[in-house]
Amino acid sequence: MVVEYPGGAPATQRRDLKELVGMLMNGLMLIRHIEGRAGNPPQRRNRKEVRGVGPGGQSRRAIFVLICSRLMLGWWTIAVLLPISACDRSQGWKGEWPLLPYHGRLSDHPNFIKLTGELRDSFDPAAAQAAEAIGLTVLPGRFTYLLRSSAGPASGFRGKTLVSVDGRPIIIELQLEPLLFGKSQPREVLAHELVHATLAHVMQERYFDLPGWLNEGLATFGAGQGESKIRRAMAWAELTQATDLIDGLETRTEGWIDAPEDFLAIEFLHRRWGMEAVHRVVAELTAGRDWQGAITQTTGLEIADFFDQAADFSRTEVAARAGDLEQPFRSLVSSFEARQYEMVIEQSASILAIPDHPYNTPTRYYTGRAWLSLGEPAGAENHLSFLLGQRRHEMGPFAATLYWAAQMHALAGDTTSAVDLCKELLSYDPHRRLLSRACERFVSGSDDVLEFRDRSLSLFDATSTQDPSSQEFRE
Ligand SMILES: [Zn+2]
Repeated sequence: MVVEYPGGAPATQRRDLKELVGMLMNGLMLIRHIEGRAGNPPQRRNRKEVRGVGPGGQSRRAIFVLICSRLMLGWWTIAVLLPISACDRSQGWKGEWPLLPYHGRLSDHPNFIKLTGELRDSFDPAAAQAAEAIGLTVLPGRFTYLLRSSAGPASGFRGKTLVSVDGRPIIIELQLEPLLFGKSQPREVLAHELVHATLAHVMQERYFDLPGWLNEGLATFGAGQGESKIRRAMAWAELTQATDLIDGLETRTEGWIDAPEDFLAIEFLHRRWGMEAVHRVVAELTAGRDWQGAITQTTGLEIADFFDQAADFSRTEVAARAGDLEQPFRSLVSSFEARQYEMVIEQSASILAIPDHPYNTPTRYYTGRAWLSLGEPAGAENHLSFLLGQRRHEMGPFAATLYWAAQMHALAGDTTSAVDLCKELLSYDPHRRLLSRACERFVSGSDDVLEFRDRSLSLFDATSTQDPSSQEFRE
């Protein structure tokens, strides 16, 4: 994902400040509204008038409301400032590459040191992979790296390249949670961001003219993430059919939903004209040609024709992956949404029979949840435990799976496992408020097993209408 800051201030600070000011303004507006309703003068120039009413004119109630609202403003300011000052932004972890040190919430996680070692070891292979794919020299030492955990509600990104054009360093920001919990792979994330950063470094201002599909397509292609991104979007995007993912390269929705189409356009270039064509497009771009020129020069096709042919290629690719299971899978999802859980279980058989199919993972998730909704944790066990044991970055909605697996254990009376999963969920994503709060309560109340079990069930019921997976795939 790329966030562009033409001429921008250090990007993380700028965004945090914007959030801060927004929240403060909201607070002020709310307080003024309360004061206004209490008959209090909302503005200074009105004060004289009110005073003119005499000593008793400004009612005690209004003064009370004024004091309360000012106290509220103070509280509001503290509540907004605290999390922002706790945000992990600090100086100088001295390594061969400039990764800034991390002092955030998860720095005492048992896997933290291991992860930083993995990141360090991933730089050279990631740079080599990116260089080979785009045909440019990739020097990771040119950039600044920032490892951070999400300071606000979970943002869902894994990496970002923050680019400004006024000579400030290009910052590659890596989100800690997905890396720490195995939801994303250091080498892949680094290779992806290194493609963006290298293009930005070489192209300077012209980098901002790159269309989203071309920039993301090259980065996904360069990081070797194409296949996993296709599978993930096929499995989890809300679609009538998988080929709906190919909706036009210039239509932008969400990063993870656009990713397959962006990648497949570059893959089309690669398959039809060879790796040299990918390198040539990049070379033309870095030499100063506009992107349309780079494509037409390389392929001999007009842009409209390139788009048409890339779309045909991409639809064929996606349809081939779905195969005969397209229709059965979409009916299963409809049954799940219609809460026809017996039907879901019945429909899952043909899909589960093909283990490597992109629809296998979501089918396990829906089937597991269907069993739970029928009050049968034993039926869910096979599916949800399988998902937790799978390589996590392929699993789909990680937080949601932890959550439902915890419910499964709670239902089966295995409190210890339920609490363990909740603890993991809490450390993965403390900002997923409803879910986290529910888990927090039964983690802290877990001494009394029976009470815990009853309470957890009602809490799960209370939160089960929200879909915890909705935020999970944004990149
Ligand atoms: Zn990207």
